[in-house]
Amino acid sequence: AGMYHSHGIEVYHKPRSYETINDAGFNLQKLAWIEHEKESSPQPFTRVRVVSEVNEDIVLVEHEDGSKEEQVAKNKVYMMNPPKFDHVEDMAELLYMHEPAVVHNLTQRYQKNDIYATVNPYRYLPIYSTEIIRHYRKKRRGEAPPHIYAIADHAFYDMLHDKENQSILITGESGAGKTENTKIVIQYLASIAANGSNGFGPDYTQKTKLEEQILQANPILESFGNAQTIRNNNSSRFGKFIRIAFNRNGDIRGAFIDWYLLETSRVHTQTLEERNYHIFYQLLNADPEMKAMLKIDQKCPSDFTYTKNSNHTIQGVDDAAEYNKLVQSMNIMSISVQEQIEFFRIIAAVLYLGNTIVNNNYSRVEISGYESACDILGVSPVLFKKHLLEPQIRAGNEWVSQSKSPSQVKDNLDALSKVLYERNFGQLVSRVNAAIDGPKSMEGMSVSEGERFIGVLDIAGFEIFKINSFEQLCINYTNEKLQDFFNQNMFVLEEKEYKRENIFCDESFDYRNDLQPTINLIESIKNPIGILSCLEDECVTQGTDERLLSKITEQNISNSRFKQDKYNEGFSVKHYAGEVKYSTAGWIERGKDPLNEHVARLFAESTNAHVATLFKDYATPATPTASLAIRQADIRKSLYRTRKGGGSFHTVGYKHKQQLSVLMSTLRNTHPHFVRCILPNDRKRPGEIQPQLVLHQLRCNGVLEGIRICRVGFPNRLQFEQFREQYKLLAPDLIANIRDHRKACQMLLQSVPGLQAHQFQIGRTKVFFKAGILGDLEEQRDLR
Ligand code: ATP
Ligand code: MG
Repeated sequence: AGMYHSHGIEVYHKPRSYETINDAGFNLQKLAWIEHEKESSPQPFTRVRVVSEVNEDIVLVEHEDGSKEEQVAKNKVYMMNPPKFDHVEDMAELLYMHEPAVVHNLTQRYQKNDIYATVNPYRYLPIYSTEIIRHYRKKRRGEAPPHIYAIADHAFYDMLHDKENQSILITGESGAGKTENTKIVIQYLASIAANGSNGFGPDYTQKTKLEEQILQANPILESFGNAQTIRNNNSSRFGKFIRIAFNRNGDIRGAFIDWYLLETSRVHTQTLEERNYHIFYQLLNADPEMKAMLKIDQKCPSDFTYTKNSNHTIQGVDDAAEYNKLVQSMNIMSISVQEQIEFFRIIAAVLYLGNTIVNNNYSRVEISGYESACDILGVSPVLFKKHLLEPQIRAGNEWVSQSKSPSQVKDNLDALSKVLYERNFGQLVSRVNAAIDGPKSMEGMSVSEGERFIGVLDIAGFEIFKINSFEQLCINYTNEKLQDFFNQNMFVLEEKEYKRENIFCDESFDYRNDLQPTINLIESIKNPIGILSCLEDECVTQGTDERLLSKITEQNISNSRFKQDKYNEGFSVKHYAGEVKYSTAGWIERGKDPLNEHVARLFAESTNAHVATLFKDYATPATPTASLAIRQADIRKSLYRTRKGGGSFHTVGYKHKQQLSVLMSTLRNTHPHFVRCILPNDRKRPGEIQPQLVLHQLRCNGVLEGIRICRVGFPNRLQFEQFREQYKLLAPDLIANIRDHRKACQMLLQSVPGLQAHQFQIGRTKVFFKAGILGDLEEQRDLR
């Protein structure tokens, strides 16, 4: 992965409709925020006082600390909320809602240890913004963080009350706390459900076996799917969507886990301060009997190529103890000892595959030390070597042995390790699903009559590195779709509210398709061909990176979200979160990531049933040579592709697109709840908050996008009675004797000098305001 690049990134600045001095009216002597010129400053915004108007577009401001005066464009001056709003829990209450206001509020609250904040600029669609630090746990061990429980609770209540499926979408960058919050939600749901029929059950502290099992799924997934990274000692290297099904009484009926995009390159390569997946170290610290069983007795991380070059331990983590916990979880999951050994065996085999020595012996490639892996995998070492070094390919009418270079053989071995690891992981998740699936199968969404589910999505947030590759494209594409889903939802809810209140909004309010051009750019199949399909095509036709890039460019050059990037062997995409440069270097090569078909077929015929199952889609009919011939056409296509049963082949990108589309249609059938996790600082320090970093994340996680679009409509709204009460001072005599609150509001508003008709609307029960107007009214009232 490229270096994380949180500061000084080029952000795609959307046209701003935030509250600047322009729309908020001209407020002399008022406090405001201005943007820093330099993005390198730790503070993104400076506090200033507005001194005078220079001309139509420019004002003179004085820094609050008196250090200097400067002239600033009006649209760069953001009105400051009065101090009484500093700690406000629901940001919908802010008079002025813009980037500095949100950053300021989060910062203030964080310093009071209020790590859960509700960012809710549109009252009827809550976004829950969560800031988390590891230190917090030490301070308040075991204590229920109020807001995430509240979300879980709302979801549970809504599910039962509205008879609707629910989803909780948790996003944020690495280390922000997604997985921890996911676990908290699941524990919460298990515990309220364990109360039996909504708390009236007789045995309310007793969890059922099923609930226990659901809770044990996470430790198992984390052993095989998490690893230490620079940013998180327990980083999830895959995305997951866990659905928990309930019957109409609210009892848990089962659960189902879907997983996405496991980072397989980690199996063979990690950077110095990172580690391979936890399971490798856990097994290398297992009890001697198990190690002997796996043929890794006396071995430690420094004995294996795949583990020796990076960290061997994590501070504060005892891998032996973690191993015991894993086994315990697997026991509770009713995964038998024999099955456990099978899953572990693959890990040992992968370690030995990595230790295979490849060298050139008088221009012949030789391998040595592969026998242990073959032994563990139950395949013939002679055939393994033959298939690996001299796979047969068809040239014209003849079969010839294709000779390989040492580096090709090494790549082949790494590719095998990755595939073994990934398939083993997939099989493990299936096994866990089989245990927790409950009486009724949820696969394919066939939740039975009267049953509903709550799904929790824990998936990597938007990523902008210095060098962004295919992995980032997949992740950012996912986030673009999730943001689009969020926008659609917000629109529908806002529209409903406007209809209910009989409020008129012009078409410019319709932001539903704002992200569509970006999504098309990535996923469109034809006219023009989007990025993923271009990749698919070029992989099939054995293209090159250059050809891929020119095809992508040629097809999408007229898309406003696409930009050519001549210097970087790549292109840029304008995502909602910013402009991201992608480098296409190596896409095709990696696309061709050669899973050696011959070896895969050998695995399919393994004497070890588990190994054979992992590769059963490669199992060949009785006559291998004939089937080989038939398959020649496919083999070309199969290079670096995943393979579905029935002989069709697809690239990783294509498979992800399919999975994502299933996920999206599942989500569309739920009532969603959004949780945004925010990393407070990049030093893993307690109590420290870096405003630049927070601002960057607010852009990436869509909070600011949400604010931007909600401001298109009428973001502030108050019930008639409340408005009258709060603002009666604007014209106390005028409305003193008016009984009807609606009428009183109308008269009040008509009496305000300078207030224009398009700036507010009076609905059936509430008054609605355009962004910034309420701030003006507050000010006028306070002047009286
Ligand atoms: P990744 O994308 O890398 O998987 P993540 O968002 O899932 O990251 P977590 O693993 O949930 O991040 O959190 C990282 C670490 O931060 C945790 O291991 C834990 O130490 C700490 N942490 C996160 N949330 C909390 C919390 N609510 N209370 C205490 N500590 C927390
Ligand atoms: Mg995680």
